[in-house]
Amino acid sequence: MAAIKYRVIKKDARTKARLGILETPHGVIETPVFMPVGTQATVKAMTPDELKEMGATIILGNTYHLYLRPGHKIIEKAGGLHKFMNWDRAILTDSGGFQVFSLSSLRKITEDGVEFRSHIDGSKHFFTPEKVIEIQNSLGSDIIMSFDECAPYPADYDYVKRSMELTIKWAERGKKAHKNTDRQALFGIVQGGTYKDLRRECAERLVDMDFPGYAIGGLSVGEPKDLMYEIIDFTTDYLPHDKPRYLMGVGTPEDLIEGVIRGVDMFDCVLPTRIARNGTVFTSRGKLIVRDAPYAEDFSPLDEECDCYTCKNYSRAYLRHLFKAKEILAARLATYHNLYFLIKLMEKIREAIRQDRLLEFKEEFLRKYYGNREE
Ligand SMILES: [Zn+2]
Repeated sequence: MAAIKYRVIKKDARTKARLGILETPHGVIETPVFMPVGTQATVKAMTPDELKEMGATIILGNTYHLYLRPGHKIIEKAGGLHKFMNWDRAILTDSGGFQVFSLSSLRKITEDGVEFRSHIDGSKHFFTPEKVIEIQNSLGSDIIMSFDECAPYPADYDYVKRSMELTIKWAERGKKAHKNTDRQALFGIVQGGTYKDLRRECAERLVDMDFPGYAIGGLSVGEPKDLMYEIIDFTTDYLPHDKPRYLMGVGTPEDLIEGVIRGVDMFDCVLPTRIARNGTVFTSRGKLIVRDAPYAEDFSPLDEECDCYTCKNYSRAYLRHLFKAKEILAARLATYHNLYFLIKLMEKIREAIRQDRLLEFKEEFLRKYYGNREE
């Protein structure tokens, strides 16, 4: 038995957008979907009940972080990540590749794997594709990722080609090492930087290996937006129609819409939770820095059109006060709103696909979002 089942229930006539149903061992997910990031076995400042209340059906965990702290063996002993963090809906864990390359110091990449030092205590560790699968098998997440090298931007062609070759070899090895194919679906990650021929080759070779889903990695790492959209559009052409596609680490409201239009089903990003903690919120009329002085006497909600707990009960002035006073509730209320905003945005996108009006929805959303820019 396969761990997940995915089916497209409607294709948009004018774009590559798809409406889908993804069945996992921990519930059914309607796609396109935004997945809040729970780096250290918690979506920062939110309880699982709050996540459920806002409609989250799947969240992310980070392999690199959980391996270093508390350690995947402890989580396995606790009964797996779902039980450890009290989240009974779906979880996707990443490969740790991105964190190894962005957070840790003194990396040494060999054909066999990557040696790195922990960003916490400087201790030395070695990740192989097999090790990364073993860790995720211990965590018990519903969707797991094969180990990849995320090339920086810009990077020259030869570097990206070598890196892409390595990612393919590691995907092959990870697939062999994966034990729980009946309850954990292993996705391959398409790399290849901004070089189309490399993206195509990577996608085609991974598709030959027949993974239950595919991720597009190595984007949103500093390249211009137009180029990112172009590469997404190009890459999804080489991915099978009957498998879910996950764009890693991309999550501004406009990127979600543009990604869906280019055939992406799943997204994750730390942006909504991170900016919330710094006092910035999404609204239907653009981003708003609620900690700023102009909101000191603004008794309207963060977003007039939002019906989240925060917007129903609190004003911009109150949020600003909490931020200035460094009260913990500031981060909680702003995080709740930002995640709710993106989850509702995805619901609206799905509804627009259902009604054959995705492009009209995009136009309306962006006109309002950028019309009264407050940043
Ligand atoms: Zn709200």
